Amino acid sequence: MTQSFRITLLPGDGIGPEIMAVTLDVLKQVGSKLDLEFTFQEALIGGAAIDATGGPLPEETLTACRESDAILLAAIGGYKWDTLPRELRPETGLLGMRAGLGLFANLRPATILPQLIDASSLKREVVEGVDIMVVRELTGGIYFGKPKGVFTTETGEQRGVNTMAYTDSEIDRIGRVAFETAQKRGGKLCSVDKANVLEVSQLWRDRITAMSADYSDVELSHLYVDNAAMQLVRWPKQFDTIVTGNLFGDILSDAAAMLTGSIGMLPSASLGADGPGVFEPVHGSAPDIAGQDKANPLAQVLSAAMMLRYGLNQPQAADLIETSVLSVLDQGYRTGDIMAEGATLVGCQAMGEVLLKALA
Ligand code: NAD
Repeated sequence: MTQSFRITLLPGDGIGPEIMAVTLDVLKQVGSKLDLEFTFQEALIGGAAIDATGGPLPEETLTACRESDAILLAAIGGYKWDTLPRELRPETGLLGMRAGLGLFANLRPATILPQLIDASSLKREVVEGVDIMVVRELTGGIYFGKPKGVFTTETGEQRGVNTMAYTDSEIDRIGRVAFETAQKRGGKLCSVDKANVLEVSQLWRDRITAMSADYSDVELSHLYVDNAAMQLVRWPKQFDTIVTGNLFGDILSDAAAMLTGSIGMLPSASLGADGPGVFEPVHGSAPDIAGQDKANPLAQVLSAAMMLRYGLNQPQAADLIETSVLSVLDQGYRTGDIMAEGATLVGCQAMGEVLLKALA
């Protein structure tokens, strides 16, 4: 029996529409091959939404997202909107969508593909075999804590304020996702905080430690965030699954991303307690190469694979996409960001074409 899924596509800004077009073709081909019926609807977010509606997250977009089975997002942002007031910036649309859909867990794999090992700026022996999953808390911490704002003090000075806060329940729910993710992987979980300085981090550490009693098959360790940053570049193979708060996760997941050599290869998933998840590449809208057919579409394509695996429970379709990506890399096709000696340089569209051939 044909299974049907409603997918909201959010191409966003910059290279977003280019990499989304490639991914849409891939999904259509996978659908027809495996008898999956996808209904796609496109909606506005970020700068594109600002230009069309005056705001970065129109109500219709949030409604479309809520009514779908999964959301595939490309990227938002660009120079054009950088000087707008914060509430009108593209990023505000992204944060609003995460909060509106209750997406509290962000899963970011950083896996070294043997075909791209030389794309890493670290030595081969340091990165060979690296396979890390960073589980980042996404709707709490300093990006959302109150009070926040720029206030005028009694002496007339301006004072910028943000608040890092986590409640028991916020820590416990991300902790559960992290322990369960570690169970499905190598059985090791490293919790990253700044408990030597921050009270909020001490609570984080206490809760995660208490939870570990329910997950005796997972080996739990703790690191301060500064040390975690060092260890990630010193000996990344020590990590299996990492769990951390919103701010630290934002930074560490980008550092982990760069172990692999290109941000253009990295997908991510953002999940809530129930309802649809959002699947998107780790990278931004790359305005410096937008409209030039230079973007690497593979992070977006691999995000579609994560959508099929984690959002729609279609592991066979996810496997098919991931195998095809490895196959085009094996055949030597590379976009500029992952170009290597002796490889065949292709643009975004051409990478899409060779992927479709590999899928067929
Ligand atoms: P970026 O990820 O867009 O770009 C960083 C560098 O990586 C650039 O040199 C870019 O050309 C390159 N790059 C990124 N993706 C690539 C791809 N698929 N193929 C080839 N090269 C790629 O980060 P940035 O420059 O810091 O930010 C640009 C804009 O994107 C900003 O407006 C920022 O706010 C926004 N942004 C959005 C998201 C998101 O939508 N989730 C995330 C990060 C940044």
